Amino acid sequence: MQLLHKTDMHITKTDYLEYTFCRKNLWFMKHKPELFNDKELSEFEKKIIEEGNLADEAARNLFPGGELIELVGMRGVGQTKNVLAMKPKTLFQGAFLSDVFFVQADVLHWNEPLNGWELYEVKATNDVKREIPHHHVNDLAFQKLVIESGGLKIVKAGVIHLNSEYRQKGEVDYDELFIVADLTDEVLASEDAVREEMDEMKAYLSGAEERGCDCLYRGRNAQCTTFTHSHPEVPEYSVHDINRIGGSKKLFYDWIDRGIYALEDIDNPEKLKGAKKAQHQAYMAGKPLIDHEGITELLGELVFPLQFFDYEGYSSAIPRFDGFGAYEQVPFQYSLHTMREDGEIEHREYLVTDPVGDFTRPLLERMREDMDPNGTVISWYSTYEKQRNAKLAELHPEHAEFIETINEGMFDLMTIFSKNYYVDAAFKGSASIKRVLPVVVPHLTYKALGIQKGDQAIERWEKMISPETSQKEKDQIASDLLEYCKLDTFAMVAIYQFLLKLI
Ligand code: SF4
Repeated sequence: MQLLHKTDMHITKTDYLEYTFCRKNLWFMKHKPELFNDKELSEFEKKIIEEGNLADEAARNLFPGGELIELVGMRGVGQTKNVLAMKPKTLFQGAFLSDVFFVQADVLHWNEPLNGWELYEVKATNDVKREIPHHHVNDLAFQKLVIESGGLKIVKAGVIHLNSEYRQKGEVDYDELFIVADLTDEVLASEDAVREEMDEMKAYLSGAEERGCDCLYRGRNAQCTTFTHSHPEVPEYSVHDINRIGGSKKLFYDWIDRGIYALEDIDNPEKLKGAKKAQHQAYMAGKPLIDHEGITELLGELVFPLQFFDYEGYSSAIPRFDGFGAYEQVPFQYSLHTMREDGEIEHREYLVTDPVGDFTRPLLERMREDMDPNGTVISWYSTYEKQRNAKLAELHPEHAEFIETINEGMFDLMTIFSKNYYVDAAFKGSASIKRVLPVVVPHLTYKALGIQKGDQAIERWEKMISPETSQKEKDQIASDLLEYCKLDTFAMVAIYQFLLKLI
């Protein structure tokens, strides 16, 4: 048996969180990283990590004069001991090792009256969860146990999170941007359970083989990259791919318990309802389900000129632009394809290349020039475009009436797919444009573009507006962004034309 303490493997706070999500997943991460890491992190996942780091750094402004442990990982343990010997008032990233457990605490702040340390975890979130068990609480309990076994006394524990009400105006006001939430009671209440879990986790990870994989009982989106390795018996398109099947536990669990994985093997399809039923029917029929009447009725409501419209938006944990808050979407680009009744199509676009001052005003003014409020504005998942519009109206009330007219008449082209008027089994129950487009208009593809996904667009825009980026690269990014957004709206035009041919 491979014993954990005989290896140089340590169990970190992140490992513990991973363990609470899926212990087998963590075992793979430790023992078979090549399986665990077979998918590169998306730009979105990388950004979440980066935003967390930025929030952590920003929160240090709440404790002026704090000492930072610069060494990351185990090398920080020695440095932490040395710095603690100098009795600092605040310590950032203090590193502690107890048995196999390792933590690096975001903030430790000395509390003189209570004669001990306050422990804070910085979360780049807009709120805090106090339920037990929840990782906001358990995460602190894990840290407290490790730190206290090294001899320090924790007298308070809490989460420092972002204030969703905060709006940027000039310099960042850190005292307003962050909220310090006291979770001491919750942490004390969860300590025993976390201690038990830590012992279990150590024993489990010491095992020579991984055991138990519960994802046979979870929908596809909840599975990790190692599912195929653990369950080669499950076909690529299986009952796990049925739209939100995790929500129909009784039915789903019954199939799994009886070894029904393939859609062809479902022996009680009459129990499926709504989108699930439609997906199964389309799969079994081997062709799309089409509600011609429904599509005709919905498209019949549209008024020319049709205006296919899409925003790209940027957000960050620490607000960068006046008027916006933490994670609030900042529209930086739009694309608009206008189709007249005679079929003529015209394209307009706008990209913010230098976001200084009141840069959303010229964007909105250009929109007013480009759009005809008498025609229908068409978007995909219109909630997003409507929310951006509403924010622009809040910032520029003189344009509120125009925005209201646009929002009231906006048509969501996704509705045709989300309401099952057109269902192809290849959508796998999703109505996202990235799933629908390659199936209904396969020749239109993002593959040849410099930017292929929304999260990449955000990352590229951030790079483009950085003063460190060369003009040559800025120009290239601007061109890539324009091409990407243009395809988003042209994709809607193509899908609309595809639907027209059906009716
Ligand atoms: S597929 Fe699910 S249960 Fe299996 S290892 Fe991955 S996350 Fe865990």
